Amino acid sequence: MEATAKRLELASMLASLFVDAKDEVEKLVFLVQGKLAPDYEGIETGMADKLLVKALSGISNVREDQILKDMAKTGDLGTVAFGIASGIKQRALEERMHTIADVFDSLKAISKISGEGSISKKLGLYTELIIGSTPSEAKYITRIITGRLRLGVSDATIISSLIAAFGWDGDPEAIEYAYNCYPDMARLARLMRSHDWHSIAATSPAPMVPVKVMLAERLTSLSEILVKLGKKAAFEYKYDGLRTQIHYDGSNVKIFSRGSEETTGNFPDIIRAFKSTFNLKSCILDGESVPYNPETGELYPFQMVSKRRGRKYDLEGKSEEIPIVVFLFDILYLDGRSTMNLPYEERRKLLESLFSENENFKLATRIVSSDLQEIQAFFEKSIADGCEGIVAKSVSDETPYRAGARGWQWIKFKRDYQRQMGDSLDLVVLGAFAGHGRRKGTYGALLMGVYNDERDTFETICKLGTGFNDEILFSLPKRFEALKTESCPNNVNSIMTPEVWFYPDTVLEVVGAEITISPVHTCAYSVIEEKSGLSLRFPRFTGIFRTDKKGSECSKTSEIISMYNNQAKK
Ligand code: AMP
Repeated sequence: MEATAKRLELASMLASLFVDAKDEVEKLVFLVQGKLAPDYEGIETGMADKLLVKALSGISNVREDQILKDMAKTGDLGTVAFGIASGIKQRALEERMHTIADVFDSLKAISKISGEGSISKKLGLYTELIIGSTPSEAKYITRIITGRLRLGVSDATIISSLIAAFGWDGDPEAIEYAYNCYPDMARLARLMRSHDWHSIAATSPAPMVPVKVMLAERLTSLSEILVKLGKKAAFEYKYDGLRTQIHYDGSNVKIFSRGSEETTGNFPDIIRAFKSTFNLKSCILDGESVPYNPETGELYPFQMVSKRRGRKYDLEGKSEEIPIVVFLFDILYLDGRSTMNLPYEERRKLLESLFSENENFKLATRIVSSDLQEIQAFFEKSIADGCEGIVAKSVSDETPYRAGARGWQWIKFKRDYQRQMGDSLDLVVLGAFAGHGRRKGTYGALLMGVYNDERDTFETICKLGTGFNDEILFSLPKRFEALKTESCPNNVNSIMTPEVWFYPDTVLEVVGAEITISPVHTCAYSVIEEKSGLSLRFPRFTGIFRTDKKGSECSKTSEIISMYNNQAKK
């Protein structure tokens, strides 16, 4: 799998592996992604490189400093573990061979160890695993633990491989949709293996399991939006904060981010206020949380808070300092049943009936209108009130909550659209070119990309070297160190060869002048023009790291194509 850059080949290898794995497929779907559980469970082995180096040294009598040196050469402890396992003589190679369950269960056991003496217990379990491993097993087990398995296997690839393996001949979107409502790959693999299509179709959300968020399309004129949504629509403020999905199961409250990561610990004030605001048995609510000034009611952009807190939104203990208000705009589940299939208007009414607004919870401000002037005035008011713009929402009867989907039921219209190119883009860092002169010692430019969700690959769109202040510029090599890969990752499609490649993970907000045709970039290659792609002209970093987005949540190739087409119209 590591050696192939062809997505179809990867999917077909996975499919036959899934069939062979029998009931171990439930564990395998996690292992091939280097995970032990769905992301939202936040399960990690919690073993730092240093600890693994110690264990490997203990097994082999190779000194720790030598192991560190070997590791520095490739940046990969897995390769070092391969060498060490090849040299172990205690057990004959033929006697060593783990099952999927062995590896999975041992890693899970490591992740569960906590408290006193946990370090030496983890070390013991890892040592045992490696002693019983073939060299290749040692390599991949070590990579899983260090979070560097990186086979480029996305959720979408796993789902299409499960379909190929277990023979579903209906619409693949139905399977994807079930997963988006309840994103536990082990459950999906189990149901698919037993051909339980009924349970898959009946999948409904459950409190404490994050639902993939619904997203908006974009248009650059209000009149186009009205036409698209059938002359009349709801318009809500588009708050510039963090997506906040709130779950309550009758006793606990949990909060999940846009990327389905649990962020409960970051919102102590919201958790506290929840129970005094809502009186219900269970629910899943969707909204946006925004920091604000309690004296004036003024909203602050979220970056203000996240900048101070570094990479993670660590608001613990700081809630008094910068209060947060959640603007709720949807409800997915209430008192034991899903509300996702109700039309948007009904969900909104339900939400309105559930609570009285207070300083921690408010309803998203909105109007329902067919009058362009009124909508334009509402948009301007949204900007004056500190928002990014508005989100238009269809009020037709056919408006279920579409988990994980970007669709024309929601259309965003932002302030940026009135600037030169329109919206900013969220581009993923794929590689870097060495800096010269004043930039010696850091990077001169980054190779930036977008995600092609149809092909499940990343494509390049520009080289980015503008908009970095010195502090950020010189921190880049360190910031990206852990993402370095030896060669072009197999899910990246590039014509350019940068000096360093990175695993696609970090997303930067970038503005630019326009989208142009380019023979050296692979974004939408040969779509608009034969043997050419699309590129972003005069790109500039806005200074914002989109830490709330994973690599594959960056701007999509399809968005760039429609931006290009829209430009051509003007
Ligand atoms: P974007 O990140 O530009 O694709 O815009 C979509 C995001 O806008 C959503 O993920 C939400 O976090 C945010 N948002 C803010 N206000 C609203 C709203 N009223 N309805 C839906 N999304 C909103």
